[in-house]
Amino acid sequence: MTDKSIKELAQSVGRPVEKLLEQVRDAGLPQRGADDIINTEQQDTLVKHLKKVHGQNEGNAGKITLKRKTTSTAKVAGTSGKAKTINVEVRKKHTFNTPDPKQIAAEAKAKAELEAKAQSEAKSSTAAPAQNKASATLEAMRAAHTKEKVADKPKAAVVVKKRGGGVVKPVQTPKSFETAAQKKARQAEEAKLRATEEVARRKAAEEAQQRTLEQMRQMASKYSNDDGAAKIRVVDDNTPLAAGLVGQAYEESFKKEDREIKRGGNSKDGRSQKRGRNGQEDQNFGRNNHHKRGLKTSQGNKHGFEKPVKKQIYDVEIGETIVVADLAQKMAIKVREVIKTLMKMGELVNQNQAIDQEIASLVVEEMGHNPVLVSDTAAEDNLLEQAEQKRGEQSTRPPVVTIMGHVDHGKTSLLDRIRRAKVAAGEAGGITQHIGAYHVETEKGIITFLDTPGHAAFTSMRSRGAKATDIVVLVVAADDGVMPQTAEAIDHARAAGTPIIVAINKMDKESADPDRVLNELTAKQIVPEQWGGDVAVAQVSAHTGAGIDDLLDLISVQAEMMELQASTEGAAQGVVIEARVDKGRGAVTSILVQNGTLNVGDLVLAGSSYGRVRAMVDENGKRIKTAGPSIPVEVLGLPDAPMAGDEVLVVNDEKKAREVADARSDRERQKRLERASAMRLENLMSSMGKKDVPTVNIVLKTDVRGSLEALQTALYDLATEEVKVRVIGSGVGAITESDVTLAESSDAVLLGFNVRADATARQKADQDDIDIRYYSVIYQLIDDVKNAMSGKLAPEHRETILGVAQVREVFHSSKFGAAAGCMVTEGVIHRNKPIRVLRDDVVIFQGELESLRRYKEVVEDVRAGMECGLAVKGYKDIKALDKIEVYDIQIVKRSL
Ligand code: GDP
Repeated sequence: MTDKSIKELAQSVGRPVEKLLEQVRDAGLPQRGADDIINTEQQDTLVKHLKKVHGQNEGNAGKITLKRKTTSTAKVAGTSGKAKTINVEVRKKHTFNTPDPKQIAAEAKAKAELEAKAQSEAKSSTAAPAQNKASATLEAMRAAHTKEKVADKPKAAVVVKKRGGGVVKPVQTPKSFETAAQKKARQAEEAKLRATEEVARRKAAEEAQQRTLEQMRQMASKYSNDDGAAKIRVVDDNTPLAAGLVGQAYEESFKKEDREIKRGGNSKDGRSQKRGRNGQEDQNFGRNNHHKRGLKTSQGNKHGFEKPVKKQIYDVEIGETIVVADLAQKMAIKVREVIKTLMKMGELVNQNQAIDQEIASLVVEEMGHNPVLVSDTAAEDNLLEQAEQKRGEQSTRPPVVTIMGHVDHGKTSLLDRIRRAKVAAGEAGGITQHIGAYHVETEKGIITFLDTPGHAAFTSMRSRGAKATDIVVLVVAADDGVMPQTAEAIDHARAAGTPIIVAINKMDKESADPDRVLNELTAKQIVPEQWGGDVAVAQVSAHTGAGIDDLLDLISVQAEMMELQASTEGAAQGVVIEARVDKGRGAVTSILVQNGTLNVGDLVLAGSSYGRVRAMVDENGKRIKTAGPSIPVEVLGLPDAPMAGDEVLVVNDEKKAREVADARSDRERQKRLERASAMRLENLMSSMGKKDVPTVNIVLKTDVRGSLEALQTALYDLATEEVKVRVIGSGVGAITESDVTLAESSDAVLLGFNVRADATARQKADQDDIDIRYYSVIYQLIDDVKNAMSGKLAPEHRETILGVAQVREVFHSSKFGAAAGCMVTEGVIHRNKPIRVLRDDVVIFQGELESLRRYKEVVEDVRAGMECGLAVKGYKDIKALDKIEVYDIQIVKRSL
């Protein structure tokens, strides 16, 4: 027996619901409605009640089930043989006399009742055998229902008694007295009864099956939060046949689900969207979930397990850009479909191309899904997060120190002294032109120095330097005190929250006045420790080396206090210090590794460019294979030069790297466009107020990006109310023909900072009468522009190239180290004039000639078209095809 509703029970016993309800009420049970559930216990109570009503004692309860066996009940739901055995027993009791007359009487009564019921149902004579069906409960209840009909049956029982004289006779006996006609009628009646009963039985079996299924569904839905399948099996045990069917139904459902998964999922399950990405686990999840769902829906609907037909609507995440193939995958449709849709929208793309957010979201909408726009930097953040997750244990890392201070206060000399190598000698104009980095092994451990230039033009670069740095060493000349760039450096360090250590330099000088310096610093809220403040001060001399150890000590102590930590494990992360494009080698990028270890072969994403590290060299030009935290390296392998200050991250997924790089370059492009339109707007506004604001147009080419950026900023800063400056074209590398064309068409000044025009550009410039200016010193460039702006372009001294010689061959010379066999291609090469060495039209060295010869003879000059031999003072790395340029500082007339 299982829990069922009154209606179901009524159905299964084949009685009207009202009747059953009446009996239920009589039995003292609470159910009053057709849909009320009657549990097994209550069913038991009901059975007992009914038995009592019909005078059956409890002991006989089990035996009543036997009755069922004698009828067609055996066929119901494949009932077991156990019931049959019991049936035989009852008959035996009827057949044989028993020693206990009381029991016999009771048995006789029960039997008579059963008989009477059977007869009444068959509307036949009392001689008809009891033909009952259904289970014990069923039988008992049916008996109860026949109560009224057989109300007069006690008479029959009495009759039996009377006849038998106390001896119970077999019920069948009346048969023998019937006539042939009676027999025929009875048989027909019996056949009819059997037929109706067979129909009823089938119906009951079918209904029982349905009910079992239903119950199992309910059970499954009730327990499916756990492992649904396991619970379902418990139910199976109770109803083997139905369980088999249900099992089949489940199997069917599994197969269906599998097919759906294979097809790419039309499932109603929202989470199945993840399947494609998360694989097996989600498939299983989807499967379980499907059961739950199928079973639940089937509660109101006889047959669950139908295939979900509704189209799945996905939430599709779209970053700033998305690769077409990825977009298709996210919507679980073929790439072809996406490309088709894009074509309809007028976008011709292939599956590996990235499309931007706007177009992607249109496509997603077109496909009937929901576009979810995600943050611009989501992909980057994700990459960083991934890198962070893989980091191992943190350990102490060397400090990164930036030396800052006013120009000529001795930054380079100090660094140089620390490195014990000459750097200042090769520097043009006495200032460092771009950021370099040096990692120095001192007795106190490794310290990494970032060398930043001192000119105001490098403000942005300096501020970046301060961000990448742990400690700022502020160099102040003891004889000069706090100067504008000293103040600026203090601001940068403060803005970046970087601790400052003051190095009062040039202490060897007689005019040195450290107290004055300290006074001036205090006025800027830099209070030295000896005056009760928190800023450590070292008095040093880059020339004599005095106090340098103290300074290094202070740096080490400060670093220790800061507990600088990094992990050597995991993907390297760092910052671009400087980048330049080398014609032969591609982009050469200086990177400061900040965390993890950078290896040759790593896929590096730096700003908007990415590529594999082909080779790495340290600051001494030595090839290295790995670089850990706080180590600066020069990296080859990026396709183009990233910006100084760009973040560097090693990634292992090229697709992701491309996605992020594309997103970043798009962002840059966007910014450029915005700037350009802002500029146009600005021009428009100014021309509205005042007609014809004179503008100096500039086309600017530089050797490295750092200089380009710095110069651009400096040039824009020059603009005044009366005169504007516009850099209409800029780039890194030699001046090309297109630069000249641009300068010509926009009436711009063409400026080269540490770069030269290539041959075709020069030709074109000559033809079009375009003036190309070359500079190596930033002040001169800016002063020139300033002069041009104020309409008095007349630099007292301007560089003029006197002659160019091309290196044809390099040979070893015991006297000079390296000597070059050259052909003078332009002008005249003078022995006593300053020279520069150019490689791919980029200045790589400047200085003077050590020697100039025609054959064996030392000569003063060599003219174009002639060969000569020369050696450059202090430069041994000369190569074939390098150019030697001889120049002069000349006084020229203003031409602009
Ligand atoms: P930077 O522009 O800050 O890098 O300064 P430099 O290192 O180029 O030095 C500027 C000038 O100051 C050079 O001529 C150096 O020789 C000189 N100088 C630097 N340090 C010292 C020092 O400790 N003592 C003296 N007497 N001169 C110094």
